[in-house]
Amino acid sequence: MQLYNKLSAKERAELIEKAGKDRLTLSFYQYAKIENPQEFRDQLFLVWDKLDVLGRIYVASEGINGQLSLPAENFEAFKTHLDTIDFLKDIRLNIAVEQDNMSFLKLKVKVRKKIVADGLNDHTFDVTNKGIHVGADKFNQLIEDENTVLVDMRNHYESEIGHFKNAVTPDVDTFRESLDIIEDDLKEHKEDKNLVMYCTGGIRCEKASAYFKHKGFKNVYQLEGGIIEYTRQVKEENLENKFLGQNFVFDDRRAERISEDVIANCHQCGEPFDVHTNCANEACHLLFIQCPKCKEEMENCCSTACMEINRLPYEEQKVLRKGQGNSNDIFKKGRADHLPHKKDLRNINDFFTK
Ligand SMILES: [Zn+2]
Ligand SMILES: [Zn+2]
Repeated sequence: MQLYNKLSAKERAELIEKAGKDRLTLSFYQYAKIENPQEFRDQLFLVWDKLDVLGRIYVASEGINGQLSLPAENFEAFKTHLDTIDFLKDIRLNIAVEQDNMSFLKLKVKVRKKIVADGLNDHTFDVTNKGIHVGADKFNQLIEDENTVLVDMRNHYESEIGHFKNAVTPDVDTFRESLDIIEDDLKEHKEDKNLVMYCTGGIRCEKASAYFKHKGFKNVYQLEGGIIEYTRQVKEENLENKFLGQNFVFDDRRAERISEDVIANCHQCGEPFDVHTNCANEACHLLFIQCPKCKEEMENCCSTACMEINRLPYEEQKVLRKGQGNSNDIFKKGRADHLPHKKDLRNINDFFTK
């Protein structure tokens, strides 16, 4: 299932028509101040339930984030309802290209503390005071500007296999970590540089741009709709593609190839390769990059230790795991000392000393 896909009005109309009585799958998000999330949630539920909407929607005092499906014939009524809500008027709806009538089976509208877990406890800043949204064309111009610092807001295992040319790619495991690193590295440049950022589908930059403005950055820009929307615009408008490699995605596909460049290495042998896999030892499950040759030699495992465990009968493996809790926690995603060829990422300090 693709979670983010912005279509032109024409493409959208075609999809709805093609769906006929079938269902459309779509997603959207918006940061906005919601005074009474419970009351807002109840209102949404009443209207959407009547429209036969199914899906998972999170409502918080900071906004709304939803993935849902609905009968194509109810799409206009749904859109009309969204337009009656101030902060959802003309919202970008990302309609999935691959439709699946079974994508959601229930309507769940939940009140949460946050619409995306971001690890931030700072309630003093206004999440709706965001950076300037730019489309692919403007983004391409901005990142050529020598006063621009281009920052990748994703985690290390995402930027390792693909990122924009000249981007700074903080070596972080979480979104929260990258905020402090970026602020600290750029503290001398809050006013004289353009801080331009991007992420997969745009939602992380919504929060980050508001955060950096709150911290005193003057020229904050974000790529509208993220890499996914950038790629679509580049194709549609025939623009130069400045993204190298693969876009990591959080579904079964793992990644979408955007350019033919292979910018990562097999973590075991160092040969150029950029497809992630999980260690076959279920107790390990480490996310790492493994080329086909190593995959065969190592029997889909990240280490000889994992290989030996993985060869044991399943029942024996279960006994071994007993009482160890979830040993996945031992490893951070895509990091382990026994994988020597993990690529170093490019931090902001490298950017200023280049
Ligand atoms: Zn290899
Ligand atoms: Zn392993």
